Amino acid sequence: MGKKIVHLVGAGPGDIELMTLKALRVVKEADVIIYDRLANPKILDEAKKSCEFIDVGKTDGKHPVPQDEINEILYQASQKYDNIVRLKGGDPFVFGRGGEEALYLNERDVGFSIIPGVTSAISVPAYAGIPVTQRGVVSSFRVITGHEAKGKEVSFIDWNSFNTDETLVFLMGLHNIGKIARNLIKAGKSKEYPVAVISQGTTINQKVVVGTLEDIQAKVKDFPTPALIVVGKVVELRETLRWFD
Ligand code: SAH
Repeated sequence: MGKKIVHLVGAGPGDIELMTLKALRVVKEADVIIYDRLANPKILDEAKKSCEFIDVGKTDGKHPVPQDEINEILYQASQKYDNIVRLKGGDPFVFGRGGEEALYLNERDVGFSIIPGVTSAISVPAYAGIPVTQRGVVSSFRVITGHEAKGKEVSFIDWNSFNTDETLVFLMGLHNIGKIARNLIKAGKSKEYPVAVISQGTTINQKVVVGTLEDIQAKVKDFPTPALIVVGKVVELRETLRWFD
């Protein structure tokens, strides 16, 4: 018998039609699906009747099931089932901890495959009418974590390196938006610099708020999650390019 394989699968950002054909195929074949809350639950309807579901409910940077337990659940599933799918929101390797899961499986001699997904970092701005690059406006973008893991991660960020017009996309940053905005102003950006916050992007509940580094925090009080933050001149294009909402 060959080595077992766990498929680490990107579910896309929310709109179920933004999942790949390959992801859909492995979901249809799965005997067990271990999924996060960020993955659209309607995807599970595509599975076989006999498929087992394990909710490891990771919402918005919080991990109700700790990562080392998720790793072990994947390993145990590989010993018990033939077709194993680990379904994650967006892309498994973009702040999805897919790399850690792959390493864990690899150490235990379990095979894995990576099925990339449409990441929220690009698609959610797109559904809000914001291209992350635009000829003549900006030629690069960065995707950054806005989540402070035990008071550490945000301070790993070299804020002074953001003193360019590069588009910045912060994931998991809604709760730190005030801090992020203040750090960017400190790094030299103008208080009037454009910012958009997009919540539940690509779904019928999509909400978009546009503001400046100075006023954005007040504008997104009680904003629903998941949400991401886009900072950059491209935000201004939304006025003309908004199409979904
Ligand atoms: N692997 C995922 C990201 C995981 S981190 C991906 O590639 O998309 C989780 C963060 O992604 C959330 O805190 C939020 O910032 C962002 N996010 C995911 N789906 C989103 C959506 N539909 N709308 C807005 N932000 C989203």
